[in-house]
Amino acid sequence: MAHEERQHALLSASGAHRWLYCTPSARLEEQFPDLTSDHAREGTLAHELAELKVRNYFFTVDFGKRKLATAVNKLKKQELWQDEMQGYTDDYLDYIKSVALSFSAEPSVSLEKQVDFGAYVPGGFGTADCIMISGTTLCIVDFKYGKGVPVSAEGNPQLSLYALGAYEAYRLLYPIDTIKMAIVQPRIPDGISEWECSVSELLAWGEWVKERAALADKGEGSFQPGEKQCRFCRAKMLCRARSDHNVKQAFQIGELPPLITAAEAGERLATLEDVVRYQKDLQEWALAECLAGNEVPGWKAVEGRGSREWTDTDTALDALQQKGISPALLYETRPLTAPQVEKMIGKKEFQELAAEFVAKKAGKPALVKESDKRPAITNKITATEAFKEDIES
Ligand code: SF4
Repeated sequence: MAHEERQHALLSASGAHRWLYCTPSARLEEQFPDLTSDHAREGTLAHELAELKVRNYFFTVDFGKRKLATAVNKLKKQELWQDEMQGYTDDYLDYIKSVALSFSAEPSVSLEKQVDFGAYVPGGFGTADCIMISGTTLCIVDFKYGKGVPVSAEGNPQLSLYALGAYEAYRLLYPIDTIKMAIVQPRIPDGISEWECSVSELLAWGEWVKERAALADKGEGSFQPGEKQCRFCRAKMLCRARSDHNVKQAFQIGELPPLITAAEAGERLATLEDVVRYQKDLQEWALAECLAGNEVPGWKAVEGRGSREWTDTDTALDALQQKGISPALLYETRPLTAPQVEKMIGKKEFQELAAEFVAKKAGKPALVKESDKRPAITNKITATEAFKEDIES
């Protein structure tokens, strides 16, 4: 199935993290168009490239080098093509190869497999990027091209639904007792997330899903605003539950006692994140309304600050040089940074040609959520360091 032709069920696997927790969201979202962004189209293109490479690896007889080259050349003609997609999809292929080779017996492989999880979710189906089965293990791998929010495979509802569908499809053919799930998100550092559970754990989760899905299908249950579920909800700009939740969060700030505890500060930092995000979503909606000629009382659209640009850069700079302005003043040459060169030539080549010239400078301290994978840092001197300093002095 062509990636852009992938159909979407009302209770889609990709939206499961939303309708499983905020069950009325799926029906509410129906009122809003499903707009496809350039980021999503870019992701689709990268997915197509990734699939071609994996297909060539596993099914070389039917889809050999020549067919791969022709198909890739076709993709290169698309407007959103970027050369860096080659390196990122190679990372995905490398991961798939490593999983396939880790099995004791050659796996049975399905790519772009439509899986039916209708036994758990009314009308539920989705397309799994790669399913591998070997021995008693069923492994689902999902490629994600996003570089904003890292997605974890641990208990991931989208992959778990695919796993339920795949298990239903293959359980009579293979003695599956273990489910492995992996998300490969090559555009973020440490972009591989893996998780494993038993079939009985998956099926127990499936029973809980059945109850939630029945509510979601009818648009019943209570609204549960929250950062994760609201982020990509199509109703997020006008949803009253989200609006009330965020306004309440914002106003509570005024009721705080003069000093807050560190625990309260941590909690409020987390809740304010979504308040700020909500304000941006609402601004975006109001601007679109004003530009469409609709009234949003108290607000209007105006022209932002413009910028000055050359109408014809070459002609303008030639004219300046003819008037005696030195080219050294008009042009600047600056070396590209290591990440810029890596992006241009790809990770592999960069490793071979330039890795020895790269030193990692410590970044500025940044505040992130506790769930972030990076180790915590502190300026506080430890007892060992203090002891060492004493001895040295
Ligand atoms: S915006 Fe949030 S609270 Fe409202 S329907 Fe969507 S997920 Fe639920």
